[in-house]
Amino acid sequence: MFFAGIRMKRKTNQRNAIQEVFQEIDRPLSINEILAVGRRTVGSLNQATVYRNLKILVENGWLKKINTPEGGTLYERAGKGHHHHFQCRSCDRLFEIDGCAFNEKSATPPGFITEGHEVYLYGICSSCRD
Ligand SMILES: [Zn+2]
Ligand SMILES: [Zn+2]
Repeated sequence: MFFAGIRMKRKTNQRNAIQEVFQEIDRPLSINEILAVGRRTVGSLNQATVYRNLKILVENGWLKKINTPEGGTLYERAGKGHHHHFQCRSCDRLFEIDGCAFNEKSATPPGFITEGHEVYLYGICSSCRD
C-alpha cells in the first residue's frame, strides 16, 4: 500500500515536470527538448515516460500534437486559438505565429466551401540568421 502510494506520487511528479517545461518555454516542443529541460526537475525522466505522459496530456486536452510537414512531431499547449507555425530549417525549432494573415475567402475557388486551412512557414529564424 505504502509502496504504491510512492509510485503514484512519482508518476504525478513526472507529469508536473513536463507541464512546467511548457510553462517555461512557450512554443511547440519536440520530445528531445521536453526530455532535456524536464530532466533538470526530474532526473529520472526518460523517453518512455515522457511519451507516456505526453499521450495522457494530449488525451486530457492539455496538449496538442503537431505533425509538421518536415516529418517531426511536436507538442504545444492546447486552447491557444487559431494560429500558424514557422519552422527554422537550421535549428529545427518550431515557432508560433500569432493570428492569421491568410485570406481564406479570396483563396477559395468559386462555388467551393472552405472548412479550414493550414499555413506552414519555414526558413531561418532570427537567432540562426546572426
Ligand atoms: Zn533557428
Ligand atoms: Zn489561419
